[in-house]
Amino acid sequence: MTETTTLIRTLPDDAARAGSVAWTIDDGTNAESIRRLALFAAETGTRMTIFPVGSYPGWTEHAELFAPLVESGQIQVGNHTWSHTELTTLTDEQIVDELERNEAHFVGLWGVSTKPYFRPPNGPRDERTDAAAASAGWTRQVMWSGLLAEGPAKGAQELLASVDTEFAPGAVVIGHVNYEAMQEVLPDVLARLTAAGLASVTIRDAFGA
Ligand SMILES: [Zn+2]
Repeated sequence: MTETTTLIRTLPDDAARAGSVAWTIDDGTNAESIRRLALFAAETGTRMTIFPVGSYPGWTEHAELFAPLVESGQIQVGNHTWSHTELTTLTDEQIVDELERNEAHFVGLWGVSTKPYFRPPNGPRDERTDAAAASAGWTRQVMWSGLLAEGPAKGAQELLASVDTEFAPGAVVIGHVNYEAMQEVLPDVLARLTAAGLASVTIRDAFGA
């Protein structure tokens, strides 16, 4: 029997009506941004889903800060593969290996499985990659409806302006812990969400299981 794959781009209608959004955080090439994210989450109780890449050392370096947040479910961990290679360039076996290696790494750090949620690096996927991931237990792919403005040449003001355009009720929005700007604006992003009547939930909060 073939496992079926669900593609998630927004939260369910009831969550949207309640003003819920999913603030998600990907990758982790900047270790200081990872550390600041953990401090921010602990201080504010913000519910988020992270898609960490295990080969980036910042997650291991700051793993202890996340442990209680992951254990309580305030921070959900989804799989984003071990080395952030686009799935459509990999064989079925390599796809499973990338997911399983990343899973083993974060289960080792925090004791909680990422299954069945994952996000394909940079987005590329097709029926073959869906089937390969599903065969190993990752049947829910968390795509997105919005993307914060970030990059090596982008600063805090651009990032914050994008909060207002990307977050709407039910939105699934991606930020990254790859650039310095995110370190500074975490409290301001939360303030803007609150002012707009929005509250972040985890993907599990909204979809269960
Ligand atoms: Zn990514």
